Amino acid sequence: MNTAVSTPSSLANDLSQIQPANKAFLARRHGLLIDGTWVPAASGKTFEVRDPSSDEVITHCAEGDAVDADRAVAAARRALEEGDWSRMKPVDRERLMHRLADLIEQHADELAELEAIDNGKSVVMARYVDIKHAIDVWRYMAGWPTKLEGKTLPISGNLVPGQEYAAFSTREPVGVVAAIIAWNFPLLLATWKCAPALAAGCTVVLKPAEETPLTAIRLGELVQEAGFPKGVFNIVTGAGPSAGAALSSHPDVDKVTFTGSTEVGRLIVQAASGNMKKVTVELGGKSPVIVLDDADIDAAIAGAAGAIFFNQGQVCCAGSRLLVAKRHFERVVEGVSAAARGMKIGPGLDPTAQMGPLVSSVQRDRVSRYLSEGLAAGARAPAGGTAMKTPGYYVTPTVFTDVNSQMSIVREEIFGPVLVAQPFDDLADIAKLANDSIYGLGASIWTSDVGKVFRLASKLKAGSVWVNCHTVLDPCMPFGGYKQSGWGRELGGEAVHSYLESKSLCINITG
Ligand code: NAP
Ligand code: MG
Repeated sequence: MNTAVSTPSSLANDLSQIQPANKAFLARRHGLLIDGTWVPAASGKTFEVRDPSSDEVITHCAEGDAVDADRAVAAARRALEEGDWSRMKPVDRERLMHRLADLIEQHADELAELEAIDNGKSVVMARYVDIKHAIDVWRYMAGWPTKLEGKTLPISGNLVPGQEYAAFSTREPVGVVAAIIAWNFPLLLATWKCAPALAAGCTVVLKPAEETPLTAIRLGELVQEAGFPKGVFNIVTGAGPSAGAALSSHPDVDKVTFTGSTEVGRLIVQAASGNMKKVTVELGGKSPVIVLDDADIDAAIAGAAGAIFFNQGQVCCAGSRLLVAKRHFERVVEGVSAAARGMKIGPGLDPTAQMGPLVSSVQRDRVSRYLSEGLAAGARAPAGGTAMKTPGYYVTPTVFTDVNSQMSIVREEIFGPVLVAQPFDDLADIAKLANDSIYGLGASIWTSDVGKVFRLASKLKAGSVWVNCHTVLDPCMPFGGYKQSGWGRELGGEAVHSYLESKSLCINITG
């Protein structure tokens, strides 16, 4: 309950101090990017964008719907099949992508500030995690177009006697891609989708989350400045159930790539089945942090606190379940709780703030409901346990103990700064406890025994297993989930290949 906060005014961003470029950006009314031009929604509607630290409206964006989705898909189709993009050599695609990475880097401070105002996250984290990683991913993906090789296939051709064949496989772009993303890492998630899709030669329609459309729009401006042909990269801002649903069910979209909740992921999969689109869905998580009895306990405490409180816990692979060897349980829980109680709460633009607001009032209310449910079910909160009564969407960082695996706070993804801690007795039980979830996105093991690492890692049903660290991501390291955490992988060569079709070419060479 100790929040280190005194007055609500210290919790609101001071927008008079932002960069002139961002002041000008916020002052504009933002359109949709369709066929290389910024246009209003066909309906003329707009929606408000709010600063999560204050609940103030900071700008307005066009509210695209099915009509706009149609226009954007048609532009992407034309660019794919008729324009300069369709004829562009791989090396020139690489050059364009590198140019875009350079532009993002030139504007990194500005983008970080925009992310902090739009999402609520720390400007320092935005600069050195979100934007830095996005630049690295654009550069990594820019290296792929010249390396998308097919194979010479050792065909036997036995089915037709007396005939001889040569056979090859080639790789081709899957086509028009709809990318629908969540709000927790706006520019970074847009990059995870769009960079490999463009590297593969696809064209894209991006729908950012309504809560955080701003860096996607700025990215669209930089794509234009880099010189991408018109229609290659389109943006439709708007609501999920209209613009998003129209894209995921659109008969002329070849692939939908989605990041968001498992609940909406199911709708995407159903919508995609109409024309059997290719589908990648990156969904929710409830990832365990496992502290074994031989771990460096101080490192594990700091790691566990970072794993859940980074980005206000709004991280798909957040370490939201802490499983600790019984003899260290009290010490680890007290250490993480002390870290939670000591965090400086403040707005994204305060570089010293360690815990910002959640992204929206909806998310604050959702997390608050879980806090009440946990307490009502008998859990104890040695840290936090409340939402704050401020105009901004703040929740105190929370640690729950005395929990059991029937409680909603243990079973469900909360997507906020809320940790549930459970002790375990026996190493033999730990994989079962860690895997007791519908999700399987990430897991971390804290230990000094490399043998235990190998034995346990192979039993964990998770797309990423970290050892003595958590949420370490890299452009080359595939990321995605087992079970209901999704289908497919982001990042690495696996991501690029998910935007490619394989074609077999068989030639009769009988003389
Ligand atoms: P969400 O509510 O599922 O929304 C994600 C996106 O889908 C938004 O752009 C949303 O639009 C859109 N959408 C909503 N309904 C739709 C529909 N019927 N058809 C098509 N699109 C629709 O998720 P969120 O609250 O933004 O994000 C939090 C979730 O994302 C968490 O579950 C988290 O674990 C997950 N996530 C996963 C990863 C990963 O890599 N596995 C990474 C980050 C986040 P609007 O919101 O604008 O209406
Ligand atoms: Mg949403």
